[in-house]
Formats: sequence, structure tokens, C-alpha cells
Amino acid sequence: MNLVLFGPPGAGKGTQASRLCGELGISQVATGDIFRKNLKEGTELGTLARSYMNRGKLVPDDVVWKLVEDRLSQPDCAEGVLLDGFPRTVTQAEFMLEWFERMGRDKPRLVSLEVPDDELIARLSGRRTCLNCGATYHVAHNPPRTGGACDACGSEVVQREDDTEDRVRLRLATYHAQTAPVVAFFLGHGLVDTVDGTGDIDAITDRIRAVLR
Ligand code: ADP
Ligand code: ADP
Ligand code: ZN
Repeated sequence: MNLVLFGPPGAGKGTQASRLCGELGISQVATGDIFRKNLKEGTELGTLARSYMNRGKLVPDDVVWKLVEDRLSQPDCAEGVLLDGFPRTVTQAEFMLEWFERMGRDKPRLVSLEVPDDELIARLSGRRTCLNCGATYHVAHNPPRTGGACDACGSEVVQREDDTEDRVRLRLATYHAQTAPVVAFFLGHGLVDTVDGTGDIDAITDRIRAVLR
């Protein structure tokens, strides 16, 4: 099974992806996590990506696609992938669908998590992230069990540079202008399911399971 978990920044893609990948037996491919890992390791890609991320802009399509194509070609993706944070433009969606077709793999279905902007701002400004393993938390709704350390790997959890309110607003504007149109594009090419992304985290996982059944 190949799946795109789609939605605005803060919709809960990462939170839901980590729960679903294990039970579905598929690999998570999160472009934002890959960029942050590169940034942490001081690679050229990391430095390039940061210059866009910190302005609330998207990393250019050709750079993103090269990285995703490499990742999709790795053996652990053969059984299926859950894409989180990709595609973010219609061009990326076109590259992706063309690749799945060329490779003779099942086209991904898209599950779109819907959350209103005011809630997204509240979620992102309280988000804390483990820069070691990518796990996300929220100071009020979903804190790490031990306080400041990641439940999954024990590293410190921090606020991302781009999760400040001014940058969150820029990212939401970018989402509405460049990313939201991906849903309409996908409707013409594959399966799209819309899921209410508000409320209890477990209840949302159940809603996603229900549409996948
Ligand atoms: P969020 O979890 O808030 O949706 P991500 O971690 O997915 O954010 O992405 C962080 C930033 O990385 C984005 O704001 C963007 O600058 C860059 N980025 C991630 N994925 C993509 C992509 N598919 N295309 C272009 N830029 C991307
Ligand atoms: P995305 O990957 O779509 O950007 P995240 O999964 O990182 O989103 O979630 C954004 C923030 O909102 C995190 O702080 C997360 O803990 C919190 N969060 C996720 N799901 C919910 C929910 N259903 N209700 C409240 N907060 C949530
Ligand atoms: Zn961690």
C-alpha cells in the first residue's frame, strides 16, 4: 500500500504517520525530517533547505524530487510507503505519479487531514520536536512522558526554528497558495479521502483506519 498523508503544517501528519506505519508495515518518508537531518549533519542540502524553510518557502521542486526519488528507490520502500509532507506542489505530484506509473507500482491514495487555521497556529506554536528521531510533541496536548526528553529515543525535544508564530503564518500562506491545489489535481488521478483532523489523536487514527479499510 502506498499512501500520501496530506494536510497543512500542524495537521498531525507526523503524529498519525508514526502510528500508522508500524501497523501497516510500510516506511515513512517525511521530506521535512530529511531536510532537518541534513541540516543537523551540516550537509550542503541542509544549508540550502534551511534558507527556504526559515522564510516559510518551499524548497525547489527539482531538489525535493531528486531526494524523494532516491528514497523511494530504496529496498525498504518496496512494500509500500507513507509520504508525509510530500507532494507539496502540483509539479511534485506530477513527478510522483509519473514515477509510480513508470515503476509499475500501485499509485498512492491521498488522505487529507482537515484542520482550521486558528487551530494550526495553536498546535504549531506549542509543538516540540525531537531533532534526533523526528518525533513531535505538544507542550499541552501531547507532552513527552518524562518532560524534556523524547519518549522514543531520549534526546532533548526543542522548538523548531520555523515554528515561531510569524513563520507559521508565512508557512500557512504558502500552503494555501501552492500546496492546497494538490488535492484537486489528485482527484483527477487517484483516490482522495478527506478526514476530520480535529479532536482526540486516537480518534483521528481510527478515522484514517476506517477510510483505508
Ligand atoms: P510541517 O510538519 O510543519 O508540515 P515539514 O517538516 O513537513 O513541516 O516541512 C518543513 C519545511 O521543509 C517546509 O516548510 C518546507 O520549507 C520544507 N519542505 C518539506 N517538504 C517539502 C516539499 N515536499 N517541498 C518543498 N519544501 C518542503
Ligand atoms: P504535521 O506533521 O502535520 O506538521 P504534527 O504531527 O507535527 O503535524 O502535529 C503538530 C502539533 O500538533 C504537534 O505539537 C502535535 O503534538 C500536535 N497535535 C497533533 N495532533 C493533534 C490533535 N489531534 N490535537 C491536538 N494537538 C495535536
Ligand atoms: Zn526522539
